[in-house]
Amino acid sequence: MDFLRPTTWEEALAAKADQPESVPIQGGTDVMVEINFDVRRPVALLDLSQVPELRDWEMAGGLCRVGAGVPYTRIIDELGGPLPGLAQASRTVGSPQIRNRGSVGGNLGAASPAGDSHPPLLAAGAVVEAESRDRGVRMIPAAEFYRGVKRSALEPDELIRAVHVPPATGPQYFSKVGTRNAMVIAVCSFAIALHPGEGRVGTGIGSAAPTPRRALEAEALLAAELDWTAPLDPTLLKRFGELCAAAAAPIDDVRGTAGYRVHAIGVMARRTLTWAWNDHLGRRAA
Ligand SMILES: Cc1cc2nc3c(=O)[nH]c(=O)nc-3n(C[C@H](O)[C@H](O)[C@H](O)COP(=O)(O)OP(=O)(O)OC[C@H]3O[C@@H](n4cnc5c(N)ncnc54)[C@H](O)[C@@H]3O)c2cc1C
Repeated sequence: MDFLRPTTWEEALAAKADQPESVPIQGGTDVMVEINFDVRRPVALLDLSQVPELRDWEMAGGLCRVGAGVPYTRIIDELGGPLPGLAQASRTVGSPQIRNRGSVGGNLGAASPAGDSHPPLLAAGAVVEAESRDRGVRMIPAAEFYRGVKRSALEPDELIRAVHVPPATGPQYFSKVGTRNAMVIAVCSFAIALHPGEGRVGTGIGSAAPTPRRALEAEALLAAELDWTAPLDPTLLKRFGELCAAAAAPIDDVRGTAGYRVHAIGVMARRTLTWAWNDHLGRRAA
């Protein structure tokens, strides 16, 4: 197995263009498990851990541009203010060791329907920055990035450079059901982001369909019927939960049944909207 170790972004893009079959490795918390269990035997590993351009985040053009290699620990410590949904989801990932090495870039690269960063990225309206040596930068909205179980819109010669996330303008929450409280892959998960300035609520469903996805009809319902100055109407809340549940298309597997997941998505949708709405009204009153 070849081991490629670029030290600049340009070298990394050149290596991927010259050897598109090489497998990028950032924190290695997915890749090394797959290699150790013989799930895959790459002809070449492309180690991105020495590429400084991937290691930082910045505010650029009104968006938070999070480098693909920024580990969860730093998102939790440094980005809880602008990206509360992503930070809350990051706190639920694995253990401290996994959060020290694992990255959002790796979560996106793996494109597992159960990845915890996906629902908050969808709810916030994030955009993935991908790049190839020969075709340059491509901006892919998160909603178009996920293409199937562990399949993404990335081309073989592309790498993820960063993810651009609008800073929160309202409350955001993430909720995850697991078989225990820590070190657990989501049975299913849900994220919500209020965008009061736009009169809109963003959603993200995790681990309850072949890909992470938004609950579009539920979002449309709230955009049409929410009164942003009033307490939540219980009938609207119930209908929101039902539409979120209806947007899920889960399977039965070892972690849970499809029926349980549909039910849990409805519960989490109602719960997270209630939490967020209470925060929203509290901020208005303050
Ligand atoms: C014990 C344990 C617990 C875990 N718990 C959770 C959990 O609770 N929630 C959760 O979501 N995940 C969990 N994971 C999975 C994993 O930690 C996450 O998916 C993490 O985000 C992967 O990041 P990484 O940097 O380690 O990725 P890597 O393993 O380095 O890479 C993951 C994938 O992304 C690709 N990739 C990496 N960087 C790039 C790039 N820049 N461009 C293109 N492709 C790229 C790789 O080729 C690979 O396919 C767990 C893993 C372990 C071992």
